This record gives sequence, structure tokens and C-alpha cells, in this order.
Amino acid sequence: MTNTDAPASAMKADLETMTSLAKRRGFVFPSSEIYGGFEATYDYGPLGVAMRRNIRDAWWRAMVQERGDIVGIEAAIVTAPRVWEASGHVDVFHDPMVDCLECHSRLRADHIEDGTCPECGSVGRFSEPRNFNLMMRTNVGPVEEGTPAYLRPETAQGMFVNFENVQQTTRKRLPFGIAQIGKSFRNEITVKQFIFRTREFEQMEMEFFCHPDDSMTWHVYWKKERLRWHYSLGIRPQHLRLRDHTPEELSHYSKGTSDVEVHYPWGWGELEGIAHRGDYDLRQHAKFSGKSLSYFDPDTNEHVIPHVVEPAVGVDRVMLTLMMDAYDEEVLDGGDKRVVLHFAPDVAPVAVAVLPLSRNDRLVPTAHRVWDVLRPHFRTQYDDAQSIGRRYRRQDEIGTPLCVTIDFDTIDDDAVTIRDRDTMAQVRVPVNGLVDELRTRLDSMRPQIPSIDEIEV
Ligand code: ATP
Repeated sequence: MTNTDAPASAMKADLETMTSLAKRRGFVFPSSEIYGGFEATYDYGPLGVAMRRNIRDAWWRAMVQERGDIVGIEAAIVTAPRVWEASGHVDVFHDPMVDCLECHSRLRADHIEDGTCPECGSVGRFSEPRNFNLMMRTNVGPVEEGTPAYLRPETAQGMFVNFENVQQTTRKRLPFGIAQIGKSFRNEITVKQFIFRTREFEQMEMEFFCHPDDSMTWHVYWKKERLRWHYSLGIRPQHLRLRDHTPEELSHYSKGTSDVEVHYPWGWGELEGIAHRGDYDLRQHAKFSGKSLSYFDPDTNEHVIPHVVEPAVGVDRVMLTLMMDAYDEEVLDGGDKRVVLHFAPDVAPVAVAVLPLSRNDRLVPTAHRVWDVLRPHFRTQYDDAQSIGRRYRRQDEIGTPLCVTIDFDTIDDDAVTIRDRDTMAQVRVPVNGLVDELRTRLDSMRPQIPSIDEIEV
């Protein structure tokens, strides 16, 4: 859901700049490009893969590893079709679709502003809206007309159908959560804005099961916690806001949803949804499967159907947001332009670049030795092509926080130069102790985040 009455974004990157940088530097490629591409489908290149791993790791660390009350699962992408009948997706997972009668574009009715076709500009020339189910169908089995099934449109149902398995094997007591990261698929009517909305995407979702009496308190808690997580990735607070859904916007299952929204150049857009799903999903699966999906509370000797709070966010959308938020163009003394991605160290695809001053034979063994020292500790990249100035620019453009330069003095004094991306300051340090020095410097570049009590929602 987007709010288009936002003022112009303070973000310096537009989508065209981002798409071109992402391709030029190996973050994101158009999929099947040698065959002319495949609409709104993307492949992630070496830097994109590194960044996505960092995003997933940061999420898993915050949601599972650093907590005692959340455990992980990985459920199948293609499951029993009954799952999607029970969840309501077969009946109500629709978007309203219209055709422009002038240019024949298919459009999402709720994305049309002022009755104007975004493709051809004609006004008020649309077909009647009809519901279009977003689930992708497939057939399972060795014959073409095998059993019809769906690719999952969200990872959440994997947590609900495994609620009993997880609760019994972990003996968790309420409140507790189940987390999952994985691909989801939706036949989106319009796919635009690069990797913001695609038909194949990756979600990071957590279902937090709690006592019904506590669910509103937990909803507020997760709104604050999730906002803090986005701050911890380095997204600038002025580009983020929380927005409660209006009653008309709420999904069929939701008792209340808040979105973490980002101030993109095209207006405010959803980055993450934090939904209060009530007991809808467990009740539905109990009804359709015939199993009792209640929780027995040993303290009160009562059976309860837990309520669920769900923070759900897309890896691809986080990555685009990080890139757009971090993008900067600076004019240097002398008039040169510098493009920099001011990534926080934990999300930057490369943390430390290793740069020998030149490819001179005398330098190479020393540079390789330094690289060998750093590789086990940091995500590194070794670059010896072109002038050192151009290499600094390349590292700035992919957001590498620190560069380590090996020059001829290194051969004698076993010291290297560390260059800071943000200040461009350089300091000379001994190779002995370099790992600790780099660690301290990376630590100091991590965003400061407010405590949960300091956040108002
Ligand atoms: P929208 O209103 O933008 O269509 P939604 O409200 O349907 O999104 P959810 O079902 O709440 O989205 O999904 C949770 C998160 O998964 C979203 O906040 C987003 O980060 C991500 N996501 C959903 N759909 C897509 C998509 N088509 N492409 C990329 N990411 C997506």
C-alpha cells in the first residue's frame, strides 16, 4: 500500500541510476538477458548475493540467534493445495485488475491515481475491475495434467501448519515465535520499480504466537523492534515511518496491521508489514485438517488458541531500500564527482578491499600475504586493475567501508594504509594488528540505534 501524497524524497538516487549501477557493478542483472530478458525477473550477481546473505544473516541474528524465544523452520514451497484453501488464498488472494481501453495495459485498479492510465495517460478509459488471483499454479507429478498445486505466495503458512510439530519438539511455552526465510511467488499484475515488486521474491517472516490477552502489547512491541532493525541496517530514520492500515486496507485475516514505510522517490511505499493475524490461521487449519491446533497452558490448565503477530519483510525490497538510501553523489575539491554508497559495515557486500599500489612483481607477494591474513576475518575483494584513484572510486561506488593499500614501503616496514570510505582519511598501520584495527574501525561505522523505550509508535 503506498501513500502518494508524500513530498519529494530526500533520496538522491532515482530508479534508473540504481538499476544501471546495480548492473554495472554486479549487484543485479536482468534475468535471461542473452535471450532478451524475461519481464521483471532478475538475477543477483556476485555483489548482490553477498549483500542478500548479509541481509538474511542480520535478520536471522536479530530474530533467532540473539533471542531465546524464536526458532526457525524451512517449509516446502509447493505444499498440499488444502493449505491455501484453509488460509483463504484460493478464495480471496486477489487484486482488482482493469484493462486500459486505449493502450490495453493490465493495471491494478488500486494503483491508478486520478483515473489516469500510467502507461498512456488517457483518463477514465478502463474496463470494469475484476478480481485476479495472485497465486502461481503448477502441476505436481509426472504427467502434464498431474495434481494442480500452487507455489506459495507467502512463507507464513509453513509456520502455521507446523505449529504443533514445532511446539511439541521444542517444548516452547507461549509466547514464542517461528521464523522462516524463503522464496515466495505472486502473479503480480503490475511489476515495476526494479526489484521493489517482482513475481518471484524472498521473504523473511516470523509468526509470534502469544496469549490472546497479550496480543495487542506484542503488536506494539514488534512495531518498535522492527523499526529498530531497519535503523540497525543503516536506513536513515528520516526515510522511514510506521503507518497503521485503515480498516478498508486490512487483509481478510488481520485485526490490525502497521507498515514500515520508506520515503522512495516515487512516494511512501511498504517495506515491511507487521500484522496482528489474531487466531485466524490456526482456527482455519484446525477446521480444514480436523486437528486441534490449540495450546495447553500448564500454568492455568487451559487450552487456548494463540494469537499471532507477524512481521514480514522482503529481502529484495530491503536490498533496494539500502542501495537507494545509501546512495550519494559528492563533488570533490577540483570538481570531480564521487558516487558513494554509504552502507553500514554489516550489509556492505565487501567490508575490506585489498589494493596493491600496482601490479609490480615486488608488490604482489606482499599484497597476497596481506590478503591471506584478512580473508578469514572479513568479506574482502582484491583489486589491482587500473590506477589506485580509480580503484578507490570503484570501492566507493559499491559501498566498501575500508580499503587497505599495499605500497613499496610495505615491503620494508610491513605497514599498510587504511582508507576510510566516508571521510577519505588515510592512516598507516602495521600489518601485525591490522585485523584488530580494521575490526575497531568497522565497529565505529555501525549505526547507533535507539533503545526500544526511546521509540514511540
Ligand atoms: P504490497 O501492498 O506492496 O503488494 P503486501 O502488503 O501484499 O505488499 P505482504 O503480503 O505484507 O505484502 O508481504 C510482506 C512483505 O513481503 C512486503 O512488505 C514486501 O517487503 C515483501 N513483498 C511482498 N510482495 C512482494 C513482491 N511482489 N516483490 C517483492 N517483495 C514483496
